[in-house]
Amino acid sequence: TKVLLTGGSGFIAAHCLEQLLAKNHTVVTTVRTDAKRQAILDAYPDAVAASRLDVHIVPDIAQLDAFNQVLQVPGLQAVLHTASPFHFHWSDPQTELIDPAVNGTTGILQAIHAHGKDVRRVVVTSSFAAILDETKFADPTHTFTEASWNPSTVENIHDSKPTAYRVSKTLAERAAWDFVDREKPAFDLVTVCPPLVFGPVVHHLATLENINTSNERIVTLLKGGWKDKIPDTGAVPLWVDVRDVARAHVVAMGKKELGGQRLFTTPGCMSHREIVDIVRRKFPEFKDRLPAESVQGGERPKDSEMFSYDVSKTDKLLGIEWIGLEKSIGDLVESLKGKGI
Ligand code: NDP
Repeated sequence: TKVLLTGGSGFIAAHCLEQLLAKNHTVVTTVRTDAKRQAILDAYPDAVAASRLDVHIVPDIAQLDAFNQVLQVPGLQAVLHTASPFHFHWSDPQTELIDPAVNGTTGILQAIHAHGKDVRRVVVTSSFAAILDETKFADPTHTFTEASWNPSTVENIHDSKPTAYRVSKTLAERAAWDFVDREKPAFDLVTVCPPLVFGPVVHHLATLENINTSNERIVTLLKGGWKDKIPDTGAVPLWVDVRDVARAHVVAMGKKELGGQRLFTTPGCMSHREIVDIVRRKFPEFKDRLPAESVQGGERPKDSEMFSYDVSKTDKLLGIEWIGLEKSIGDLVESLKGKGI
C-alpha cells in the first residue's frame, strides 16, 4: 500500500513509519523542517534507495490548504494523520493548539477528498482525551467506551492546559467524523484513541531535552526528580505502549471491516509507584537517582474511586496482545540510555 503519514517526526509516528516500512509499504511522510526531513531519510537509506520512502515539508498544518501539495503525489491509497500539538509550551491555546489540531484534520480530509482519488482509508490519531469526561473521573459507576465523547467545548480552553489539549483532540476528531458524514467521500475513517503512551523512542530526532510529552515523566524520574516524593499518578491512570498504538494504526489502515470505528486502545492502568518499582528492579545502575523504598506516593486511584472503562469492542476488533508495563518501561529506559540519560 502507498501511505501518507503526517507528522513523521513524532514519537508515535516514528513507530508507524518503522512498522509500515517493515511491512513493505511505500510511505510518504510529512515534517516541518528540512533538518527533520534529512534525519528521516538518513535513517532509512534502503527504503530511500528502493523509492519506498519520501519526506515532504509541510510547515504549518493550521493552514487549511497545507496538505494540498502532498496530496498531488500519485497513487496514495491510505492516510495516517498523526500530526497534532501534544505539549504544554504554548501561550495562546486557540492559535497554537486548536487551530493546528482542527484545521490540520479538516485540511487533510479536504485535500484527500479533492486530490487523493485512490485513498480508501484514513486513520486519524485521536486520543482518550476525546472520550473522557473530566466530571466523571472519580465516578466508578461511569463507564467510558468507544462510544463516549468528551463534552468539553471551545469555551473550556482557558480552564487549564490539560483541558485545552483535550478540547483540541475532541474538536479535531469530531471535525473528522462530521466531514465524512457531510461530504460522503470515497474514503472511510478510523480513529485511534490511546490514553497516555509510553515506550521506546525510536525517532532519530528525539533528545532528552525535547522528549515527547508522555515520556517526559520517565526522564524526570531517571534524572532524580522523584527522589523525595513520587508524584501522584493522577486521575487518569490508563496507558498503552507506543508499539501497540502504531500497530493499531497499521491494522486500522488495512482491515476493511474497521471502517467507521473508534478504537480505544489500552491494556489498563499503571501507577507511578509501579513504574518506580520496575526501574528499580531492572536498572540497578539508576539506584542513586531513584526514590528510596521508604518514599511514599505514586499510587493510582482505587478502583472504587475512579471511572470504569470497557474496551472489549476494540480488543475484539484489533486482536492485539497488549505489551505490558514492565516491557514498555524497560524498553523506554534502554532507549533513553542511548540518548545519554
Ligand atoms: P509528538 O510531539 O512526538 O508528535 C507530534 C507530531 O505532530 C510531531 O510530528 C510534530 O511535529 C507534529 N506537530 C505538532 N504540532 C504541530 C504543528 N503546529 N504543525 C505541524 N506539525 C505539528 O507526540 P506524539 O507522537 O505523542 O503524538 C502524536 C499524536 O498522538 C498526536 O495527535 C497526539 O495528540 C496523539 N496522542 C498522543 C498520546 C501520548 O500519550 N503520546 C496519547 C493520545 C494521543 P514536530 O516534530 O515538528 O514538533
